[in-house]
Amino acid sequence: MRAKPTRLRDKTICSVPVGKFVERVKDFHGATAPGVILGGYMVELAYRNLPKGDILFDALSETRTCLPDAIQLLTPCTIGNGWLKVLDLGKFALSLYDKSNGNGIRVFVDPAKLESFPEIRTWFFKLKTKKEQDLDVLLDEIHAGGSQVCGFMPVRLKPDIFAPRRHKTFRVCPICHESYPATDGDCCRACSGKTPYL
Ligand SMILES: [Zn+2]
Repeated sequence: MRAKPTRLRDKTICSVPVGKFVERVKDFHGATAPGVILGGYMVELAYRNLPKGDILFDALSETRTCLPDAIQLLTPCTIGNGWLKVLDLGKFALSLYDKSNGNGIRVFVDPAKLESFPEIRTWFFKLKTKKEQDLDVLLDEIHAGGSQVCGFMPVRLKPDIFAPRRHKTFRVCPICHESYPATDGDCCRACSGKTPYL
């Protein structure tokens, strides 16, 4: 194994030493996925630019791939606690926002900035197969570049995204006899044709 560049030694992502973050990614995600590592730098960039103070923030990922895991590893926001939402727009972008008013920061990978980072660019646009790309070289470039390949902007989330109506009452479905939100109608959504199972 090649020695890791010394600059990683003191580097942190959201106060977590980079080496520790990389280990956590491997444990949680199952591999040292470049997308989760880059996602870590993206979470940090968003976090750094949030208004200071005791705000409670939620997260939105615009892709199902990699970014939700970076968010779950570095923030209190998880899919399960409802503080992380995934809206699959197929874009490698995320935002952290104040859950009381929907104001936040969106971070995205800026293709123009990728020109100076050929390995990241090749990986990002899938110009080589996974086999052809040297993972160590790519990861070194991600750690060297960090959030330099990203842009960020202030955003305001739509109320139906940041303050969705909660399911108030539940009833038992007359067809499958399981519970479902009463607002869904006379039977559960699965029984009305939305079941994912054959
Ligand atoms: Zn049902």
